[in-house]
Amino acid sequence: MRCPYCGSTSSKVLESRATEEGRCIRRRRECSSCSERFTTYERIEKIPIYVIKKDGRREPFDPEKILKGLLKACEKRPVSVERLRGIVDEIEAEIVNRMETEVPTTVIGEMVMDKLKKVDDVAYVRFASVYREFKDLKMFLQELENLLTSKE
Ligand SMILES: [Zn+2]
Repeated sequence: MRCPYCGSTSSKVLESRATEEGRCIRRRRECSSCSERFTTYERIEKIPIYVIKKDGRREPFDPEKILKGLLKACEKRPVSVERLRGIVDEIEAEIVNRMETEVPTTVIGEMVMDKLKKVDDVAYVRFASVYREFKDLKMFLQELENLLTSKE
């Protein structure tokens, strides 16, 4: 980081603050040579993450798609959009923390179900029935049974 006043590369950080929901770090610096103060912004590079679909196709990871799925599952349920956005943020963070550039939709689906289960049973079953592609009533009832026994 070069001082804009004297060109020295030595400075000390006075203050660091995350902005734009942690995507950017603003640092207040003081030049060690001339003592002038200046501000730098460091952008956190986002590694592009791809989702591998069941048929093998890849597409860029899009948190909005998770939100859409959640909204659909939670239709007419007492779950706020804020809460759902929170879930999406948690999932996004988990995916980014995997440090892998590809993530199968099955992994994302399991993450969503795991979180939805704790929020709303009806929404969970709705999501699971779409996601797991229940072939018949038996599969559906099996899932319900699993859900009920896990609550005991
Ligand atoms: Zn300087």
